[in-house]
Amino acid sequence: MSIAEIFETMEYGPAPESASPALRWLEERGRTFGHLIGGEWRDPSGGEYFDSTNPATNKPLARIAQGTPADVDAAVRAAREALPAWQALDGHARARYLYAIARHVQRHARLFAVLESLDNGKPIRESRDIDIPLVARHFYHHAGWAQLMDTELPGQVGVGVIGQIIPWNFPMLMLAWKIAPALAMGNTVVLKPAEFTSLTALLFAEVCRDAGLPPGVVNIITGDGRTGAALVEHPDVDKIAFTGSTDVGRIIRVATAGTGKKLSLELGGKSPFIVFDDADLESVVEGVVDAIWFNQGQVCCAGSRILAQEGIADRLVARLRERMETLRVGDPLDKGVDIGAIVAPVQLQKITELVNQGRDEGATMWQPSWSCPAEGCFYPPTLFTDVSPSSTIAQVEIFGPVVVLMTFRTPAEAVALANNTAFGLAASVWTESINLALDVAPKVLAGTVWVNSTNLFDAASGFGGYRESGFGREGGKEGLWEYVKPRWELEGKNGAAARREEKRGKPARAEKARGNGAGPVLPPIDRTAKLYIGGKQARPDSGYSMPVMGAGERVLGDVGLGNRKDVRNAVEAAHKARGWAKGTAHNRAQVIYYMAENLAARADEFARRIAQMTGDEAGAEREVEASIRRLYTYGAWADKYDGQVHATPLRNVTIAMNEPIGVVGVACPDTAPLLGFISAVIPAVAMGNAVVVVPSERWPLAATDFYQVLDTSDVPGGVVNIVTGKRDELAETLASHDDVDAVWYFGSAEGSTMVERLSAGNMKRTWVSYGRERDWYDAEQGEGREFLRQATQVKNIWVPYGE
Ligand code: ADP
Repeated sequence: MSIAEIFETMEYGPAPESASPALRWLEERGRTFGHLIGGEWRDPSGGEYFDSTNPATNKPLARIAQGTPADVDAAVRAAREALPAWQALDGHARARYLYAIARHVQRHARLFAVLESLDNGKPIRESRDIDIPLVARHFYHHAGWAQLMDTELPGQVGVGVIGQIIPWNFPMLMLAWKIAPALAMGNTVVLKPAEFTSLTALLFAEVCRDAGLPPGVVNIITGDGRTGAALVEHPDVDKIAFTGSTDVGRIIRVATAGTGKKLSLELGGKSPFIVFDDADLESVVEGVVDAIWFNQGQVCCAGSRILAQEGIADRLVARLRERMETLRVGDPLDKGVDIGAIVAPVQLQKITELVNQGRDEGATMWQPSWSCPAEGCFYPPTLFTDVSPSSTIAQVEIFGPVVVLMTFRTPAEAVALANNTAFGLAASVWTESINLALDVAPKVLAGTVWVNSTNLFDAASGFGGYRESGFGREGGKEGLWEYVKPRWELEGKNGAAARREEKRGKPARAEKARGNGAGPVLPPIDRTAKLYIGGKQARPDSGYSMPVMGAGERVLGDVGLGNRKDVRNAVEAAHKARGWAKGTAHNRAQVIYYMAENLAARADEFARRIAQMTGDEAGAEREVEASIRRLYTYGAWADKYDGQVHATPLRNVTIAMNEPIGVVGVACPDTAPLLGFISAVIPAVAMGNAVVVVPSERWPLAATDFYQVLDTSDVPGGVVNIVTGKRDELAETLASHDDVDAVWYFGSAEGSTMVERLSAGNMKRTWVSYGRERDWYDAEQGEGREFLRQATQVKNIWVPYGE
């Protein structure tokens, strides 16, 4: 027998990792766990427990406390109590704690890995070599951000008490993604692990204690969705960070609407895995293994849709089937196993049902010839071909080891197919042509794009979705913004200015700004301003107009009373103008400077108009001057809001690009009719978005006069659309419109609630003021990076190198 033949006939022997240390750890705790609240273990107030089960054997591992609203309340109170002292620590002190946690995680790495595999069913090779090392890396990396917070995030403070809810697919890793940045930025947390997988979070609770973390900084509450809901609804929580299904994400969006709670959501996905003809076939096959059979396919960014170019598709299917035949499904603690157990019987059933549905809908299913272990929750790797892009299995997230394969002819077709989903979490692009890869990557609507690679994660790079995959990023500097807020929000609108003026020894500007209020005596202008849609003035669909009152209750003119139909037309026009994003940033800067120039040429006219409305002549001139300056600010920013290259520890460049969000609806503030309009609209435009603007309802004439400036400044039709009328009515249509990608609302608390609630339909991003006023003249409150961040979403493109 030749050596090659011996190799062929060799069988894998079992290579089990011992479960004993983890089982001993459970035994020592009587296999029963309460909540960690304020540094102490507490029994559940309702006395109820449930079993956490090993999915590889279907045998219970431990009894876990079911958290009640009273338990949640106790945990939130403990976090609130711990907050002032934690926030008052300097960054260096917090860095030391995070560093200590990282060290402790490393010290207990094997225990964490084994416990994770027992509880979740994932192969020990993954928990040992991927999950737990990444957890430690996350705490180390964020120890660094705590150290650097003062210099790298000036003017920012922690948000407060954070409620964090995580899923079962990466129990410890998701915990780290949530807790590390929160603590680094000076927040305290209440975290609820998923009911199937609480054990490593409970071990982590012990680590926090051993690392000397002050009591109450981290609180761990266990329980099912009801406990999660109680945390979401608790009035004293300042932010909710959630990872899980889009359905629950939607419930949370609605539940938090209008409460002022900050929110980040990392939801589902149906990520495309695009293979071009010239790709390296062997790498692609291993890529598919990592994309969909990693963690049994229970990965939100799993490459679950293979899109193969026609020239390579047949060879790829043949090679995949061969490879699938060699995959090993079985005992998660066996180091030779590729695919472990599905987390729970209900998930197994869901996968089975969806696969059956795929077959019923006419797709061809293929599974390897071997069978899975009979005991426990196992499912074989599954490949579907002959799949129609609209079929259930091509659209719905299966969250199991099931992949569908479709074909395409041209790169344009690949992009269209890739984007044929409501999700936008991640994508992989496989080609030997760097040109093609970097052409396609920005066109795919996804928060992460991996070139010739897949499922790469690191603490230095942000991760998160576009579209219905949620919003907010975890990891990298971009992830820190989820856990801070501007300091001026604590002090109120005039606080920051007063603080600065005081420093300079001058009276606060707000007081001297007000004019005499009398207003000039000018004849009213007999004109009805129309709407502005697609670069043209348009009559309102309703045929009605509404009067605009000036100072002294004089009617100054009329503006069109826009309705839902006008908003829809404006959204359509905005979509047609999406080419704006594809032009150069230099061009956008030029156009914005040109607007400034044309506004300056009409400065007197605008100042007169503002004075008629507000009755403040001196203030009006100042407002026009400030508006010109603001245009300059965004002309300047347009080509300077750079992305980053993250230092991830792999042989690759991870490019974080700031991309526009798409079509942004903007409801302008009522204060500062021109400056408020410009400050709210131009940052979105500068970053390449097209906007549908509802100007100040009270004083819309500065905006309608601005049509002339837009017309003369080379702004392409449809980039800025303006619909006058009732702000909240129009904002309602914008917030519920599925083709609007974000809504900014500067108005009342009730209007803010409405916008947040309605945005849940397509998970659009929202930025609302909750009735809080800004000082639009103030550079900290009225312009800058906060606006630019809201106008963009970060896409991370991973490009490996090396032969
Ligand atoms: P998955 O499909 O990954 O199980 P879920 O969204 O159902 O995702 O669960 C993710 C997390 O959300 C879990 O910790 C779960 O207990 C929690 N959860 C479920 N329902 C709710 C809810 N209504 N409110 C808050 N949290 C919830």
